[in-house]
Amino acid sequence: MIQQAEIEKELKTAGLKKGDTVILHSSLASLGQVAGGAETVVNAFLRVLNPTGTLVVPTFGALGAITDVVKAHPKAVQSLHPLAGVAAIGAKAKAICRDHWQAELAHEKDTPYMRLAELGGYVCLLGVDQDRNTMLHSVEEVLRLPYLKTTAAKTFDTPGGKVTKAWPFFPGPHRDFIGLDRMFRESLPASGGALGDQGGKMKIVRIGHAVVRLIKGKDLIALALEAGRQDPAFVLCANPNCADCVAQRADLWRARFAGESFCLAASTHLAGRYVPEIIEQCARAGIHGVELDVLEGEPVELMAADKLMATVAALREGKLEVTALRARAVGAKPSVLIERARGCGVTRVVLPLAERAEEALAAAKDQGLALSFYNTMFDSEQTSAMLLRLKDKGWNPGFTFSATGFARLGEKPFLGSYKKKLRRFVDQLDVEDCLFDGTPQPIAHGNAEIKELISILQCASFEGRLVLGAGNRGFGSLHEIVGRFVGLLDAM
Ligand SMILES: [Zn+2]
Repeated sequence: MIQQAEIEKELKTAGLKKGDTVILHSSLASLGQVAGGAETVVNAFLRVLNPTGTLVVPTFGALGAITDVVKAHPKAVQSLHPLAGVAAIGAKAKAICRDHWQAELAHEKDTPYMRLAELGGYVCLLGVDQDRNTMLHSVEEVLRLPYLKTTAAKTFDTPGGKVTKAWPFFPGPHRDFIGLDRMFRESLPASGGALGDQGGKMKIVRIGHAVVRLIKGKDLIALALEAGRQDPAFVLCANPNCADCVAQRADLWRARFAGESFCLAASTHLAGRYVPEIIEQCARAGIHGVELDVLEGEPVELMAADKLMATVAALREGKLEVTALRARAVGAKPSVLIERARGCGVTRVVLPLAERAEEALAAAKDQGLALSFYNTMFDSEQTSAMLLRLKDKGWNPGFTFSATGFARLGEKPFLGSYKKKLRRFVDQLDVEDCLFDGTPQPIAHGNAEIKELISILQCASFEGRLVLGAGNRGFGSLHEIVGRFVGLLDAM
């Protein structure tokens, strides 16, 4: 049987004292048997804090007996908020709760959570983990994380009458806050104590069976903000089958790509075999554009005209822009594919640089389409000579830089091919990698110098396309490949 005196003693050990402010998230059952139940726990807090201190509890979500006791307390003040309210007892209760509903965001500036932190208050987790820590929502909101959504509008009573309001950047479904616990536990206190069990900014004690965590709101926010600035996905879980976190991560990536000068697309061959799979994979990866090269094992240049038309329409239906048709061979009549592209409203065609380049350029000009050539069997010397020849004849060919194409010929794609000869023509980079012997590799694991190429284009505010290339097949799903690509961007 746990007595009130024992609870008081442990709270003081954790660092709580007279005059402190604390927001408490709790599970009564986690303690074991408490003499007098929830009332005893609340009384213990109030005794330690003294009337000059303040006890706060959230009054939404999974509530418990302790919250009920605080709410029912004769001195309790409640913050008015239909989604994120609190109840508080003590000297600063009114100041903390005041006009909560008027704050623009539910947990950010001018809310009880941020006010408590600014007052030097604590967060106490009694027998519950970081998943219940509401102040972490404040951090997500301060960061304006792109996956946060606006709530449905709520109508509620205020002292000034009925109000209808929606809250932007409201925290969504699943996140994984538990991983932050270690960071809070191991972060050195401001005074510079030794690292160890009790050495971090978060203090841990046991009361009965319950693990009790106590950390200053300011410290918690500072640490979590730092982590979130380094990695906006810091509270998303890594489970590939968690649809919530997959969708939230896609929102982050989408926002990330929107901030880049280049336009990112994926090869359909890489994204999936069938249209619905391609649409789903791109949605999961935050990708808006595809380069249609292969579908169901069939290269685009061999596809029947009506199938091509239906495919482009179905991809658009799935909110995917077809950024180009890309053929593996020019074929006897390059004009056929170019006319078909125009027929289904695709404005760009990508072809291997080969003999009939001029014929293809003429057809593209006729149809008002953009044409870009990629290197296959020619080295950078020959490729640049061919492009220069076309330019001399008055054509303006685009160039899709296939770093793997050059690496397969034993060239150094960045130092040799790109920098010295081809930079001026490039309107697309194929993002894929391979060894000098042609064996495909995960991006930035081979000899294609793909990281250097992405970096130089990013530095030059490149406005062309980066296309996640089909050669990356076999190194995981598109989602995983995009994850690696974002990792590269973040490391630059
Ligand atoms: Zn999740």
